[in-house]
Amino acid sequence: MDQRDLWAPWRIGYIQDAAGKAGGCFLCKCIQQPQKAKENLEVWRTGSSIVVLNRFPYNNGHLLIAPLRHIGGLLETSDQELQDILVQVKKAQLLLDQVLKPQGYNIGINLGRCAGAGLADHLHIHVVPRWNGDTNFMSVCGDTKVISQSLQELWEQLVSAAGKADRPGAV
Ligand SMILES: [Zn+2]
Repeated sequence: MDQRDLWAPWRIGYIQDAAGKAGGCFLCKCIQQPQKAKENLEVWRTGSSIVVLNRFPYNNGHLLIAPLRHIGGLLETSDQELQDILVQVKKAQLLLDQVLKPQGYNIGINLGRCAGAGLADHLHIHVVPRWNGDTNFMSVCGDTKVISQSLQELWEQLVSAAGKADRPGAV
């Protein structure tokens, strides 16, 4: 592991959980439960894609953008779907800029478990805000309980900001 990588020990529970529950796709669960947006940390959705806060974040404000269809890779997307997903990536960055003011981002896709995909069967793009020195902060203060509490607060902030700013990508 490179020294610049984030260290996220709480993710091991997620990885073990994902491995043990073949077929249990949390993105599809979110997609099928629009009435439980808060519980599922859904920030918004469009006709083709959904934006959710990662429950097991690499960093504060870590968003996942996924197609509504349960497809595993880029090759299965339609051009329209892919365009919609990328527009949501842009809107996610705009929203995070506004709410959290990060100094940088990691935006990327892990395809396949060997490439680090915790959920290999449902394509998703990670949008991870970064701050100078955040690695040190997270390794000292990164605790599952603290993170999950701030997730609900952050969800409120993001949904509120998204609502004010012409609700990005509202259906
Ligand atoms: Zn799925």
